[in-house]
Amino acid sequence: MAEEGYWGIYKNIENMPLERFDPFRTVVNEFNTKVGHVTQFSPIRGKRPFEHEESEEEEICLQSPTSDSFCRVVKGELPAVILSKDDKIAEHSLSVNSTKGNLQDSTAISIVNLFTPMARVLYDNAQQIDSVKNKSVGIGIVHLLTSHYDVLSEVPVEEAVKLLTTTQLVHKNSIKELKEKYNTEKLTVMHFFNIGEESGASICHLHSQTYIYANDIGHGWTSLGFLSVPGFHKKFKNDENYCLACEVAKNDNNVVDPIDQELLVKERIVFENDEWIVLTAFSPERDGQLRLIPKRHVAQFVELDKKQILGLGEALVTANKALDNFVRMANPSMNLLQDRNILFRQDNVGYNSGMHLMIDIIPIQRIGGAEIMETYRIATMFPEDVAKIMRESLKETK
Ligand SMILES: [Zn+2]
Ligand SMILES: [Zn+2]
Repeated sequence: MAEEGYWGIYKNIENMPLERFDPFRTVVNEFNTKVGHVTQFSPIRGKRPFEHEESEEEEICLQSPTSDSFCRVVKGELPAVILSKDDKIAEHSLSVNSTKGNLQDSTAISIVNLFTPMARVLYDNAQQIDSVKNKSVGIGIVHLLTSHYDVLSEVPVEEAVKLLTTTQLVHKNSIKELKEKYNTEKLTVMHFFNIGEESGASICHLHSQTYIYANDIGHGWTSLGFLSVPGFHKKFKNDENYCLACEVAKNDNNVVDPIDQELLVKERIVFENDEWIVLTAFSPERDGQLRLIPKRHVAQFVELDKKQILGLGEALVTANKALDNFVRMANPSMNLLQDRNILFRQDNVGYNSGMHLMIDIIPIQRIGGAEIMETYRIATMFPEDVAKIMRESLKETK
């Protein structure tokens, strides 16, 4: 029998993760769900191992040892609940079957997160989980390449595409199974990469993660912004079809947003292919922030078609290379690290907010009180100048 909480399997309701909203900054929004600052408590996660090597170097561990837990899962030395192998589903999303198997024949796999911050299954008592109101339920997933890489910029584009493909397959399947299990049309899907230990990654082996919540969690103020703004724009412009991201994706320098800002799109472009544009963020959260926008309107990651996934593989790898270069060249006073988070900003399942999917790549940078106090920051470089440096650096590395 696995330890309590492993793979999100709980025997005791008391141990299940739960969430609390800050009562001074939580409202019920137009989608009829709670939105505010939310803190999730997951006591069992405190016991997870930390696998980074102690290192004197400031640089990210570019060649970390290949004896990490993910490499051991791939070799069949450690058990895992395997959800997908490349373009095939393995276990169903709420499975309790952990197995050891040689996975080296696959390029990319998805497994259940061993230390998931929400309960997935209440073992032997699975029915009760439906009625546990204030507890966090859903599924935590890890997506990884069977070959060992530390950072996205060193991954061949074909492998990045396979990682995205298996990720999308498991998203689709998990969304379907959670909707049935909890009899709901509304789910929150958070998908992200933590790259490097300062970004929160506990294992160096490159991986992305997905949290799918079947309860009210995941609606922080940030998601309130992203989900509510499309409706505001349509109303403000008096145009049901208006989408700002679609305007930006035209790569035209005459885009003025609904609050009258000239968005300087051409100056901020770092890379583009048939399906995606990569540009520095107009109002970055950290210096060097990049934003990837699909040229065709899509609300959720699961809606991307094959061509868009192919283009995304290339755009993601290239964007990460550009950011590597920028961080290397940036003034040390900027306190920028190579570690970074990659955040998939998307519509919640069942909301139809009108949101246009976008992906933010945000490097780690020290911040101060004012920046914690608000969704606010003080930058020293204009994104147009950052983009210029990134474009030049890509030419040199080609
Ligand atoms: Zn590894
Ligand atoms: Zn759009």
